[in-house]
Amino acid sequence: MRQLPRLKNLRAVIFDRDGTLNASGSEGNGGYVLEPAQLAYLPGVETVLKDLHERGILLFVFTQQNCVTKGLIDEQGVDALHDIMQTQIAPAAYKGFYFNTQACAGEDWSKPGPGMLNAILAAHPELNASNCLVVGDAVRDAESAAAAGLPFAFVASDQKDKTAEARKAELPFYDNLATLFDALDAPVPYAAYEVDKDSREMLLEAFPPRHPDVIAHHITHKYGATEADMPPMPAGVRVTGHHDNGAIQVLVVEVDGKRHQAAREDETPRYYHITLSIDREQGIAPKNSNDLLQAIAAEKGLSGMDNLPEPIQISVLPRLLLDET
Ligand SMILES: [Mg+2]
Repeated sequence: MRQLPRLKNLRAVIFDRDGTLNASGSEGNGGYVLEPAQLAYLPGVETVLKDLHERGILLFVFTQQNCVTKGLIDEQGVDALHDIMQTQIAPAAYKGFYFNTQACAGEDWSKPGPGMLNAILAAHPELNASNCLVVGDAVRDAESAAAAGLPFAFVASDQKDKTAEARKAELPFYDNLATLFDALDAPVPYAAYEVDKDSREMLLEAFPPRHPDVIAHHITHKYGATEADMPPMPAGVRVTGHHDNGAIQVLVVEVDGKRHQAAREDETPRYYHITLSIDREQGIAPKNSNDLLQAIAAEKGLSGMDNLPEPIQISVLPRLLLDET
């Protein structure tokens, strides 16, 4: 499952429309919203949208409107509904509305195809999987997001039948939009080995900090963790390498002879390390240490990470910490 971006990293949210932002249409209308009077935001949605808009996060809608192909409404009618939505949160709050028009029939614009999402990404090259989130109330919304390579969050709606489907598909699941964005705003717990005080002092003496922001605090074991993810006290922790790319100074670490926690096959391993010092002025964050070690491993292989003549033993304590950044 792809990790959801943090709220402060978000630049855009792409919402499914019916059942996510507004109530789906009545059964008499085949579940479609066909007239402005039928357009009603679900409880709490307007507050969340206003908040996101005020934070400068771009809002998009991608919506499957098979009512057009069925002749229940024409494209101008759908546009007219979206024009009204543009006035309800704040003037021009939405950056764009995308729906499967007749002209795009047969292409991948219909969900679960990625066409609508790819069109948004093409129009906004600054958006990517790390700063853009797709939100919907159906598994097909999630499939579109996966096909476009974007993270997805499921919100339960008035359609309870899809809720079971989403849980089965193990989608990141939230009762409503407010709980989703509260969760994205909350600090992320992570399981780590905290470096003990004496070991920290010894390391800072052996490797004087080269950058203004000195950290030398912990070895991350698992990001987005719970108590259940806490590792046992390790028998041996050794520093085997020291690297600096001009903005991050990092120590390579082995925990009980392992270089990283178990990683899924499709994931690049996140090597155990201690971020010693960084230069935040250069836009560097501690998480960028991963990128540095992965680059070294890719270029020189695993042994290329170990450049110390003798490994250095250190003492640590497993702890559940909170990422407030
Ligand atoms: Mg929907």
